[in-house]
Order: sequence, then structure tokens, then C-alpha cells
Amino acid sequence: MNEKKNVKKNNKKNDKKYDKKFDMKNDRNHEKKHDNIHGKKYSPASKCPVSGKCGGCSYIDTDYQKQLDMKYDMVKKLLKPYCEVEGIIGMDNPFHYRNKVHAVFAHKKDNTIISGVYKEGTHIVVPVEKCLIENEKADEIIGTIRRLLPSFKIKTFNEDTGYGFFRHVLIRCGHKTGQIMVVLVVASPIFPSKNNFVKALLKEHPEITTIVMNINDKKTSMVLGEREINMYGKGYIEDILCGKRFKISSKSFYQINSVQTEKLYGKAIEFAGLTGKETVIDAYCGIGTIGIIASEKAGKVIGVELNSDAIADAKKNARMNKIENIDFYNNDAGKFMRQYAGMDSADVVFMDPPRSGSTVEFMDSMISIQPEKIVYVSCDPNTLARDLKYMTNNGYKAIRAVATDMFPMTEHVETVCLMSKREK
Ligand code: SAH
Repeated sequence: MNEKKNVKKNNKKNDKKYDKKFDMKNDRNHEKKHDNIHGKKYSPASKCPVSGKCGGCSYIDTDYQKQLDMKYDMVKKLLKPYCEVEGIIGMDNPFHYRNKVHAVFAHKKDNTIISGVYKEGTHIVVPVEKCLIENEKADEIIGTIRRLLPSFKIKTFNEDTGYGFFRHVLIRCGHKTGQIMVVLVVASPIFPSKNNFVKALLKEHPEITTIVMNINDKKTSMVLGEREINMYGKGYIEDILCGKRFKISSKSFYQINSVQTEKLYGKAIEFAGLTGKETVIDAYCGIGTIGIIASEKAGKVIGVELNSDAIADAKKNARMNKIENIDFYNNDAGKFMRQYAGMDSADVVFMDPPRSGSTVEFMDSMISIQPEKIVYVSCDPNTLARDLKYMTNNGYKAIRAVATDMFPMTEHVETVCLMSKREK
């Protein structure tokens, strides 16, 4: 109960700081409007010039404290049958938090190059020069690339005809290290004046630490293709989270809000209450972040993840952090758990599935192992509630939960929930 108050109080306190730092004077007007709250209509008074067109920030014109209240209420309502929610952890500065920025490139009828996002559900490119939630340096670099392309006579790709060359830019920024990776997604491996282009880009942005060419020659809405050629630097970036160093390559999943990720992982590890002896499973482990951070407080850790690039990063991350009590497996979490359940036991399971939530196969096998504690990290409270229903009907009870605002200005919210075995 106290904790619940504390988190709420912190949010209020944070928001005061936030109010001072940012110009909120228009917020009252925005509050009344809520026109584009679901990203549908264009509001001329919006903080964002592409509000309602890009489909991204449905809460952009809602006061930040109100956003937190709405998200907290939603999580509370969904989790009500299972447990209390202790509060929502907000941000001091809820802008420019995205460490991963994507821009699709196209040209207008007069051949002017534009970059931005696809209009929701279409292939029409909405030009974006500055975004209120993206890393500002990344937006600057994208602007420079827009300017450089015509001077190198590089044509953008046309999705309908399949002609052209330059498709997307993906930028990843290390929050603590300041390292920056620029991925240039192109339709063919023959990049005209490749070296001079890289030189020109680095001249304007010496802060870029690596540039990668990714070849995507398919008619697809997927941004990245299979093949990659390193143009400059190491081909990946590193970042530090909760005191551990992580290697992040272009295709691996990495939480997009580093400030909040540290708070989220901190809660997940606190909930697990590790003593140094436990066998821990980190399911849906991505590049191994949660397991690696938990490893110093555990006996041994086993990580499992479907994406092979992420698991390769996870193995390197364990080595880089000199962690010896962790093993990673590249497999579907459900299949892995089924095999594991026949062979071994676990005391704590961290599970961090994608928005679609977990599967009955995974949960049944996990329950058959009977871990003392399950820490569920969820990016969709709807699927969390669905999975909690299943697990609480099968021998577990939810005992603590806290929401974390990983995605300010959007309707998304992250939740950590602790479950333990029900006494028989
Ligand atoms: N725990 C990590 C990753 C969470 S995102 C972190 O905090 O960074 C969810 C992860 O689940 C992604 O890395 C995704 O590739 C992985 N994934 C999706 N479906 C999966 C499945 N069926 N089995 C195992 N991993 C899966």
C-alpha cells in the first residue's frame, strides 16, 4: 500500500520537474480536445505536426500525468481479478526517449526526397523531420542523409514499381555509451560511391560509431533484409543497462526506452527476490539482458529465445560481462520448456513474451516444473490478464504487480507481475 502511494507520489513529483522543464502552457487546450486521442483526426493545435497522420502517438496531446493515470487505471482494471497494482512508474522527461529510430525514404513527384513513416495501414509516406519521442541526434542524422542523397544522385526506392535503390534508415543509439549505429537499407549491394557517401556522412556526424548496409531486395513491408555488409566500425553498438554491457546488432530486440528499462528490470529482479542459489530461466530473453543482470544473484541462469541473431548477441554478452553461470538456447520458448520440464527443475522463471503473450504449451510446461516464483514482464496488459487467468487456474497466484511507462505519448504500457505457487 505504501509502495503504491510512493510510486504515485513520485510521479507527481517527477511531473512537477517535468512541468518546469517543458512548455506545457497549451496543455489545457489539448486536454479539452482529445480529438486525436486515437490518432484519427488532425488537430491543428497539436504539439506534433503529423499528429493523426503517422498513427504513432495517440496520447501526444494529453497531459503526461493524465496519460499515467489512464494507463494505471487500465492495468488496474485488467488485473483486478488477480492482484492489486502498486502504481505506475513514469518518466521525468517523457520526450525523445526512443533509442531506435526508423525512417522510410521516398520521393515526391518533383523528385524531392522525403523520409518519415508509413501512414497507418498504407504505403504512403508521411514526411517526418522531427519527432517528439525519437532520439534527437538520430533525427538529425536522418535529415543529413536526406540532404546527401541527391548530391550522390542516389534514387529512393519505389515500393509499387520496385525501381530505385535507397529504402530505409534505421538508427540505434546507446543511451549510456553514446554509440550510434546507422543502418542504410538498400535494394541492391551495389551502392554507388559507397566510400564517399560514408565519408560525407561521418564528416557531418563524427559521433556515428558504425554504419551498416542492409540489403533488402524483396517486395515486403519488413524493413530489414537478410544480408548485411559492414561499411564502417564494428557493425553493432554496445550499451550499458543496470551496470552490465550489451552488444546490440541491427536485428536483435532491445528495449527502446533505456531509462525506463532500468527501472523495469530493477522491479523484475526485486520481485524475484534471488538469494544466490536459485536456478533461473529467462524465457523470451532477447539479447539476454534480464538473465545477465540477474545472474550475479542466482546459482545458474538459462536463457531461451527464438531469434538467432539475438541469441548470438546474448552469448557474446555473457562472455563480455565475464558471466559463467548462464547458458543460452535458440529455440521456441514453448518447445524448449516442454523438453526442459522432462529433465530439470527451476526456482524462478522470468518470462517476457511479445505482445501476443505466452502460449499454453509454455505455461503448462512451466507449471509442471513448479517454480517457486514466476516474474511476468508484459508489454500488453490484455494478454497478461489472459495468461494470468490461465496460471491462476493452474496452481499459481499473482501477488504483486507494477506498471511502467515505457512508451510515453502512446497508449502502450508495460507491466511486471510476480506470481508464486499457491499453497496446497
Ligand atoms: N527479455 C528481452 C526481450 C523481450 S521482447 C528484453 O527485455 O530485451 C520478446 C522477445 O521474445 C523477443 O526477443 C522475441 O524475438 C522473442 N520471441 C518471440 N516469440 C518467441 C517464441 N515463441 N519463443 C522464444 N522467444 C520468442
